[in-house]
Formats: sequence, structure tokens, C-alpha cells
Amino acid sequence: MANEFMARTVGFKPGERNVFFHLLTGCNLSCKHCYINPLQHGSNMLPLDTVKKWLKLFARPEQETHLILLGGEPTMHPDLAEIIRAAKSMRYAVTVDSNGYLFHDLLDKVTPKELDFLSFSLDGPEPAVNDPIRGDNVFATCTENLKKAVAKGFHTSLIYTVSALNIDHLHKMPALLEELGVQRFFIQVIGLRGKPAAGKPEKGDEWQVDPQHWLDVVPGVAREAAQKGIHVTFPKVFLDSEDIFQCAGRVSENFFIFPNGRVYQCPLCEDYSIHSYAVEQDELVKLDGLNENRFFSLDIPEGCVMNKLLQPDNIEYLDDGSPKHRISCCLLKQEVLPVK
Ligand code: SF4
Ligand code: SF4
Repeated sequence: MANEFMARTVGFKPGERNVFFHLLTGCNLSCKHCYINPLQHGSNMLPLDTVKKWLKLFARPEQETHLILLGGEPTMHPDLAEIIRAAKSMRYAVTVDSNGYLFHDLLDKVTPKELDFLSFSLDGPEPAVNDPIRGDNVFATCTENLKKAVAKGFHTSLIYTVSALNIDHLHKMPALLEELGVQRFFIQVIGLRGKPAAGKPEKGDEWQVDPQHWLDVVPGVAREAAQKGIHVTFPKVFLDSEDIFQCAGRVSENFFIFPNGRVYQCPLCEDYSIHSYAVEQDELVKLDGLNENRFFSLDIPEGCVMNKLLQPDNIEYLDDGSPKHRISCCLLKQEVLPVK
């Protein structure tokens, strides 16, 4: 296997900043694995003026900062185009993560120069796999709008959330992405948050992918996509024995902002009222007390502390009581670079 097709771990870089901004929690879809939790995240849509003020709180024009605009479905925000322009004027690199419905004619209201990436979500290479997870007719709508975006010259990416329901169909994605003209492919693993965590899969559906199945399938599909010229990113999940564990909460800056003002540093904590910061009266306030940031400095043999506390079923132990694998930070990625 040529080295250029091998996955490499993308370590956290000093000074790395990512701002994940949920503008609203409303959505036109109700995907089975949706992690949005209005009780914890609010159910409001932030008005344009408020969004601009909050963007300023996190802007650092002298330092590269990635802004990912999220919902719910962010294109349901009627002022999304103006939000994108405001963010660009603050020198953010801007991505919009859409379910593919592209409300309010987004493609006609912004230009490819104003938006760094437009990301779409599919959970299957065909309607028979995708639509039972994401909803009737979603595959057709998403792929139609993706084609329109590519034809207009937007940089596009696609997110595929792997679960036991669709992992055996992942191998068909590289050909589809090549046909659609998608430049970046993000493979995610189903979380234990939201509906999956609450044990609500329907009709006996099993969500969790066992570690060996993940390792048998995902790196190979990533290499195949890279051979087709697509940049692929997927979570590391299990650390090898020589890997160093790092908690993103200690070594990089990540902010997950919700419309009720909660600001988390760790996405695993989002279902709990243990956020490090809050936006109060349009000011960013660091919160006292026993919050997520108090856990980031703990070193345990299992790797990620929050994973052990919130998702202990992920961890397997050997007979001597030591963990079989250390679990990486959920924000640690591997990538396979395109070769053409
Ligand atoms: S598109 Fe996203 S926000 Fe909407 S239901 Fe699906 S996962 Fe949830
Ligand atoms: S997922 Fe684990 S390692 Fe990553 S920021 Fe959260 S607590 Fe730290």
C-alpha cells in the first residue's frame, strides 16, 4: 500500500480554534440519531443582531478560526446569508453544515467566494439506506441540491454518520462522491448521545458499531475515496499503544455554542448542564463550579475521562483490569489526503 493512502492522525495544533455555532435547534427533519436536545440547548432561533454580537465575542481576526454554522437546520435561518458575510468580515473561515434542503434559496444569496465550504449530510449511498434513517425523500432532495451547489462552484463536503444500520453500505460512497463532485468526506461514528444514548432505536435497531467492524471497514473506504481525489477525515476513536493521549479541552480551543447561551468545550458534555461558559447579556462569562473543564486535566488509563463517565460501555477491559484500548478525544481525527 502506497504511503500516501495511509491514514495519518491530525494532532491538535497549538493555537487551533474552532467555533461550532448552533443558530437554532429547529429542523425540518427528524433523523433517528439526532443529538439535538432542546431541553438542554434551547428551542429559540437567535436573531441576526444577536448572532453578530456573539460572533464578535469569539472572533480573533489575527488567528485562523474555523466557524461551523449549525442548527437544527441552519438554512432555516432567514438571515443566514448575512450571517455568513458578517462572519467573513470578522475573518472566520466559514462552513455551513446543512441537511441538504437549503431553505431560503441559499445558493442564490451567497457566492462560492463568500462561503468556504457547504457541507451536506447523507447516511447511505442510496435512498433505501439513507431514507429510513433521515426521512422519506431526503436522499433525492439532498443529492439534487448538492449537484446544484457543485454546478455553481461551491466547495462541498459530505458527512456520513456510521452506525450498525449503514456501515456495510459505506463502501459505495466513494463512487457516489466522485460522481457528485464532492471534495471532502467526513466519516463520523454514531455517538451515544441523544436518541442512541437514550436507547430509543426503533424495532430492535442496534446502533453501535463494534470496534473491529469499524476498523475493518472505515480506513479502507477512506483510502478508496482518497484515490478518487477526495480528502477524507474520520475520528481516531481507538489509540494505538504508541499514541499519546491528548484532551482537546487542554490543548486547543473549541467552542460549541447553543441558542440558549450555553457554551461547551467538549461535545460529549452537551446533554448536561456542565458547560464551561455562557453568553449572558451578550457577554461571554466563564462559569464557576464543577463543570466540564474540571475533568479535562485528569489522566486515566482509559484515555478520555468523559467517555469513561458518560459512555462506559465503549471500553473493554482485559483480565488484569487494564483497558483493551484507550479511547481518544472524540475531536481527534485521522485524514487521508487526496492523490489526484
Ligand atoms: S438534519 Fe441534523 S438537526 Fe435535523 S434532525 Fe437530522 S440530525 Fe437532527
Ligand atoms: S472528548 Fe474527552 S478528551 Fe475530548 S475534550 Fe471531551 S473530555 Fe477531553
